[in-house]
Amino acid sequence: MEQETTDQERWQAVQERDHRAENTFWFGVTTTRIFCRPGCPARTPQRENVQFFGTVREALVSGYRPCKRCKPLAASLADEQAAVIGDACQKIVAANTPVRLGDLAADAGMSEAHFQKLFRKVVGLSPAQFSRAVREQRLHQQLPMAENVLGAALDAGYASNSQLYAEAPEALGMTPGAFRNKGEGETIRYAVVDTWLGPTLVAATERGICRLQFGDDIQEMMALFERNFANATILPADDRFKELLDQAISALGSPEALKLPLDVRGTAFQIKVWHALRQIPFGQTISYGELARRIGQPTASRAVATACGSNDVAVLIPCHRVIGKDGSLTGYRWGTERKREILAREQTS
Ligand SMILES: [Zn+2]
Repeated sequence: MEQETTDQERWQAVQERDHRAENTFWFGVTTTRIFCRPGCPARTPQRENVQFFGTVREALVSGYRPCKRCKPLAASLADEQAAVIGDACQKIVAANTPVRLGDLAADAGMSEAHFQKLFRKVVGLSPAQFSRAVREQRLHQQLPMAENVLGAALDAGYASNSQLYAEAPEALGMTPGAFRNKGEGETIRYAVVDTWLGPTLVAATERGICRLQFGDDIQEMMALFERNFANATILPADDRFKELLDQAISALGSPEALKLPLDVRGTAFQIKVWHALRQIPFGQTISYGELARRIGQPTASRAVATACGSNDVAVLIPCHRVIGKDGSLTGYRWGTERKREILAREQTS
């Protein structure tokens, strides 16, 4: 709800061309793919075509071009220089394979060193980091519609399988494949704490949360966890884990849940479904049929329901946001009553 209020205020600032809002946000127009400052003198777009950004960088990574009238990049630099960097961003976004720094610098008529310095000053990222952010953004957009994870990665501009594995687990928190033989080679930390949803088990690898579950019987929940990860090195909580644990607990029922690092493994199909679940906005619900449609497999609602049910990371992968077509809650792996409580909390906060 908080986000909605903010967007409403931002929209009001756009309509009033409020210069006091300058440098607090930028807005893109989806139909023209141009982004502006709030005070832009150009004609005010339709609300439904407007997307807000907290930083210039987000707009650039999403492929928006800077407006020629309000010049959103020209904050403190000579307009011309800023425009050159805007063009370079466009080239990176438009190319489907990595663009060489030397080529970008040559197009801009600068030395590589100078180009790189200026790019960082305008965008806040190096050209290499920017390219990577563009790939991540594309992968997030394409994955729910993709036939397979690798295909989506190649379409998104990852050069190879190994590049995907090197970069994308961090971007996705979801890795194709299973945990090896009961967690062999993994180090996992865990804790069981009492939350408003009852006893809650949280476990994490070095890379992110691999399990978040609820249960009424703590011993039973622990026994299953230990069986599933029988060959992992299970360690007590350290400071880093405690911090993650606190964040996970306070994120239950809050939009912050999406920001926590995950480390889940699954088949390409499961990853597609879980990724699509994470695209359902906070406070909203959809049906299994709709979810099947969103991953481009409209006849697969049963398989989709099974993939939702095999989610090991409750709330952070929000399988609770999928309900029956008639609005009934249908099932929930951790009890329908918990599903009702989570949804109720999301709808009021
Ligand atoms: Zn403008």
